[in-house]
Amino acid sequence: MKRKLLMIPGPIEFDAEVMEAMSIPTPSHVAPNFIELFGNTLEMMKKVWMCPSGQPFVVAGTGTLAMDIAGSNLIEPGDHALVVSTGYFGQRYAELLKRYGANVTLLTAPIGDIVPIHKVEEALKKKKYKLMTFTHVDTSTAVLNDPKPFGELGRKYDVLTILDGVCSVAGEEIQQEAWGIDVVLTASQKAIGVPPGLALMVVSQKALSVWKNRKTPVGNYYADWENWLPIMEAYMQRKPSYFGTPAVNLILALEKSLQLILEEGMEQRIERHRKVGHAFREGLKSLGLGTIPVNNDVAANTLSAPYFPENIPGAAIISGIVDEGVIVAGGLLPEIRTQYFRVGHMGMTSQKEVVITLKAIEASLIKQGCEIEKEACLKTAMETL
Ligand code: PMP
Repeated sequence: MKRKLLMIPGPIEFDAEVMEAMSIPTPSHVAPNFIELFGNTLEMMKKVWMCPSGQPFVVAGTGTLAMDIAGSNLIEPGDHALVVSTGYFGQRYAELLKRYGANVTLLTAPIGDIVPIHKVEEALKKKKYKLMTFTHVDTSTAVLNDPKPFGELGRKYDVLTILDGVCSVAGEEIQQEAWGIDVVLTASQKAIGVPPGLALMVVSQKALSVWKNRKTPVGNYYADWENWLPIMEAYMQRKPSYFGTPAVNLILALEKSLQLILEEGMEQRIERHRKVGHAFREGLKSLGLGTIPVNNDVAANTLSAPYFPENIPGAAIISGIVDEGVIVAGGLLPEIRTQYFRVGHMGMTSQKEVVITLKAIEASLIKQGCEIEKEACLKTAMETL
């Protein structure tokens, strides 16, 4: 049977060259060739994150582990943390930080919107926080935050900033160093374009010095930078080292994917995501589907979250889309889980995938009796592109 197109917000469709790079017999993690390749990979991460003085980390695990690593290394019991939430993953960060003894203040945006930056500043004025977390693109709502003012506030109030970029790194614009964000974390399976299994982050020197000056040990043995920092430094110096066996084949894939990303060029890549995101949203609009983000300024370019039309069972629409050869994801935010679905359009997504996916959604809606002008959505999307 023909393989269906995977248009969920991660894992995504991966480049054939990336899949090829990882499908070689596994080398030793201390083989000279692999050491060189891992070193290159870490150097390239600094370019993709735009953080030349940052320290990259690559650890086997998922995006949640990346959140856990940043949280456990920077929080000591009793520290105050501000979590700015635009959906499911903000809530997750609040829970995670509490495990490490943080006093968490949670600012939650109305569904589909962001927390206005003046509200964030008001909170920062009221209490001395050690760190603040926010989500670049919350994958449960497709809401996009602008990281720049968070970086500015972090500097102004001397608060560390952690950006959950799991659904944004290499898809939405991030200038970590220029914007003064202390940790930008992500996972391999989204816009980075590598199968699931790698937790990735770049950490500022400031955050590392806060960690170095901890009074208590890190409450998570595996995540402790004490274990991982010497390993990352060794690979960057092209020296062998060991703490936990690296996910060798995934790192081979990561090296290839970062090469492809940098060959495309960061500006061009972000612009392509902007165009694809915009075209997809316009296409959805012409199908009569509203989306969760309240306006275009807060709408992600890496995924869309359209509401189902009223009075039509969502499950039927999703299975109709699958019948057309495209896999999309269901809702995730508990409050509205059954009312919407999600479509990823990041990584290698181009005009072709936009067209195939909109066509599949159109066919499924028509099957459910929606009155839609055939192919109007494609015309709208193409005009936008
Ligand atoms: N944060 C965001 C914004 C995400 O989208 C996800 C995954 N969808 C995560 C964190 C958690 O990543 P993982 O599923 O790889 O643990």
